Order: sequence, then C-alpha cells, then structure tokens
Amino acid sequence: MQNEPILSSFISKLQAVLPADAVLTEEADCLPYGCDNSRRMVAPDVVVFPITHQHIKEIIALCNQFKIAVLARGRATATTGATVPVQGGVVISFERMNRIISIDSDNRVAVVEPGVINQDLQDAIKEHGFFWPPDPTSSAYCTVGGNVSCNSAGPRAVKYGTPRENILGLKAVAGDGSDINAGVYTSKGVVGYDLTRLITGSEGTLAVMSELTLKLTPLQEEDRVIKAIYATMESAAQAVAQIMAQPEIPCALEFIDANAIEMIRSYSEVELPHEAGAMLMIEVDGDQTTIDKTLSKVIEAAKVEGIVSLEVAQTQDQAQALWRVRKALSPALKKVAPKKINEDIVVPVSNIPELIHQLNLLSEQYQIKIVNFGHAGNGNIHVNLLINPDDSEEMERAEKCLDRVFDLVLGLKGTISGEHGIGIEKKKFVPREIKPQTLEMMKKVKAIFDPNGILNPGKIF
Ligand SMILES: Cc1cc2nc3c(=O)[nH]c(=O)nc-3n(C[C@H](O)[C@H](O)[C@H](O)COP(=O)(O)OP(=O)(O)OC[C@H]3O[C@@H](n4cnc5c(N)ncnc54)[C@H](O)[C@@H]3O)c2cc1C
Repeated sequence: MQNEPILSSFISKLQAVLPADAVLTEEADCLPYGCDNSRRMVAPDVVVFPITHQHIKEIIALCNQFKIAVLARGRATATTGATVPVQGGVVISFERMNRIISIDSDNRVAVVEPGVINQDLQDAIKEHGFFWPPDPTSSAYCTVGGNVSCNSAGPRAVKYGTPRENILGLKAVAGDGSDINAGVYTSKGVVGYDLTRLITGSEGTLAVMSELTLKLTPLQEEDRVIKAIYATMESAAQAVAQIMAQPEIPCALEFIDANAIEMIRSYSEVELPHEAGAMLMIEVDGDQTTIDKTLSKVIEAAKVEGIVSLEVAQTQDQAQALWRVRKALSPALKKVAPKKINEDIVVPVSNIPELIHQLNLLSEQYQIKIVNFGHAGNGNIHVNLLINPDDSEEMERAEKCLDRVFDLVLGLKGTISGEHGIGIEKKKFVPREIKPQTLEMMKKVKAIFDPNGILNPGKIF
C-alpha cells in the first residue's frame, strides 16, 4: 500500500494519460488482480488496462517518477507467485491487448499482442495450416505474453521447443522507460545482443512486452499415440534414453511412475495391468507417407527389456482414451492430498532412473508420499510432494525433503525449474544453482533495465 497523498496524485496523472475506463482504484475491483495460482494474495493499489505501447510507456514513466511498483499480468495462472504484486502498486492487465495483428503464412510468422490467449492463437493460425508449439496444459486460459515471460511449455517441447525457440522478436518498455525493439522478422539474424531471449523467461522483471513476433510451425497431417507399460522404472527410463537417441523424435514423451500408476488405479476408472511399474505415453507425428516409418522406429526403440505391454491407438477415439490415462492423474492426486508441493525440476534424460531411485529413498526417509510424472523426453519431471497443510509437523518434514530434492537434482546436472520459473516460491534456491559471480552479473543486468527496481519487485532474486 502506497502513501495516500502520493498515490492520489499518481492516480490523477494516470487517469490523464489513459482512457476513462482503463483505471481501477476501488479496493473491491483491485482485489481480484492480487493473486495468481500460488494462492498468495496482495491487493494492488491500482489496476490499468492499456491498449497501446504508448500507454505502457506512460504508465512506466509515471511509476518511475513516483517510485511505484508495477507488475504486468496476463491471466495470472503462474504457479510460483510471479504474478502477485507483493508491494501493491500498479497491475498492468493485458486483457485488452489481445489482438492478433498479422498472420504471415509465406514467412511463417504471426505478430500478436501479449494478452492473446494461447488457445485463441492456435485456433486462428490452424486455419492457415500452422501451430505455435508452446502448449502448457493451461493453454485455454493463459496468455502468450505469460508464456513468453515464463518460457512456459508442455509435452510438445520435446520436439518443437519452448517459447525461446519459437519467438523471433518483441517490442517492450524497459523498467527505466526505454523502448525496446528486439529481434528480427526473419528465420536467421545475428545483429547485436539477443535481448529477445534475455527478456523471454525473465518473469516480467526486465521489461513489459507490448508486441511479440512469433515463429509458426506447419501442422502435421497425422499423429499416433502409444501407451507403453514397463515392469520397472529402470526399463521405462532405458526406453526414454533409447527413443531419444534415435533420429525420429516423438512430439510427446510423457512418463508416469509407480506411485502415480497406483494413484490412477485407486482413484479412477482406468484399468492398468498389475505388473505396471512405470508407463510412457508417446505421440509421434508426420505426414501420411512417413508416419508409419516414424511409428515403427519409435516402437522399436521403446521395446526394451522389462516392457509389459505396448498399445497403439487405431482411431482418434482410442487416442483420446489413451491420453485419458495421463489426464486421470491430476484429479486422482486431488482426491489423495488436499495440497501438493509441485516441483518441475529437470535432469539429463539418462539420469532419470537415478533421480527416481533417490526420490523414493527421500520419500521413505521423510515419510512424505512423492508422486512423479512429466515430460520425460526433456527430463522435465513434476515431482509432487503430497501434504496436508494443516499438519505442521508434516509440513516441516516436507520442507526438509524438498531441500534435499533440489540438492539431488543439481547433483545430477539438472536445473530446479524447467517451465514454472522462480517467482517467489523458489527464490531461496536460486543461489544453489547459479554461481555468485553469475548471479551478480544478472543483478547488474536487472539494474540496467530497471534502475529504480519498480518492475515486478521481490521476484527471482
Ligand atoms: C492448471 C494449470 C496448468 C498449468 N500447466 C502448465 C504447463 O503445462 N506448463 C507450463 O509451463 N506452465 C503451466 N502452468 C503455469 C502457467 O499457466 C504458465 O506459466 C503461463 O505461461 C502463465 O501465463 P499467464 O497469462 O497466466 O501469465 P501470468 O501468470 O499473468 O504472468 C506470468 C509472468 O509473466 C509476466 N508477464 C505477463 N505478461 C507480461 C507482459 N506483457 N510483459 C512482461 N511480463 C509479462 C508476469 O509479470 C508474470 O511474471 C499451469 C498453470 C495452471 C494453473
């Protein structure tokens, strides 16, 4: 909460530069803009709805003049507290900057405003024969600006990459009020430093983006879904390594561990064989002439010692039924534990078996149920610690266990976040991954972009 006279002078100036209906100041109106999916809540003092780059420039200029914190907000589905305005101040909502500016099929480029919903973009470009690869599970609700800012992705990342590999350029206003026009409109380019990819994944701490130039990928004609069940985690991991070592990369390679299988069995209608110790959901895509070859190569690689069964969907209905097994997991988890600590760590693919083995030992040592599943092709595993938040003793054990999980991941040459980012939740673990001098360099970069520290304060560092 800001000092009252300063705040009211600030608001008057904001109202002078923005449209009449673009500034909210009533507490009840601002409150819904105070939280994200971390369930933390700090109400902002003001919410604004810019519709142009110039509006954003005016807002940032005033925030610098009055030293008021400012936070860009897509649809606040971030899970880490990244979208919580911890110092109050201004929330810039991108709800009204949601236009698809152009779709250029010849050059495979779309230019969009950051507030466009991921699914709306996919629907619009599908008509032109394209998709934009980043596919977080939240795609029906989250914005492309949020995706770029958190470098968010989903199953398709294994073949098609994350926003960093699928953005060409951007327009933004830096924390100091400067205009940034970064990147290119071409598929190659190497002039100057790559500010596009520096701002991508920076969780709104360096600049507020106003326009994004995205690289589009042609839609594939065919896809096939495979469900492969293994007796042990080791054989499933062996299959992952073998699949990734051959040239036909699947467009999804998802892994579910024994605890997750047990959960699906107990809390959903889905039937899985008794011997199932781990499961892979694999999807391949391609054109009509190549899909069968791709499928058979991936099946060949998936057939390692310890395979229990392998099923290929023959129809779209069967494919959806196979994916339902994976999707049954989230509701099943909710039935078992009122809350979970959901981490999104990454290890090199060949280290997945060691990771799962050590996680099982930690689970026993701290008496915390751990369920693992996720994007095995990238080594990006969602490690879920199932907890009861009302049990303080259990929470204490879970925190200690989590601490050890991060040490384990870093010891296996991994990283503490593959897609959710740092926000507030993982701040204290960042120095464990990033060496002091590198961290200092990052803080200097932040100070150049945002010398007054007004942009999304209290995040990452
Ligand atoms: C049910 C559910 C499923 C999810 N599944 C996935 C998943 O599969 N993969 C995954 O990676 N994530 C997932 N997430 C997390 C979340 O959806 C993603 O991080 C998403 O990209 C956030 O988009 P958003 O529009 O909600 O962004 P917000 O939460 O509004 O913002 C996220 C960050 O981006 C910044 N930001 C937003 N717009 C701008 C802008 N214009 N300029 C500068 N900074 C900006 C914000 O300041 C904040 O730091 C999931 C979340 C939920 C609730």
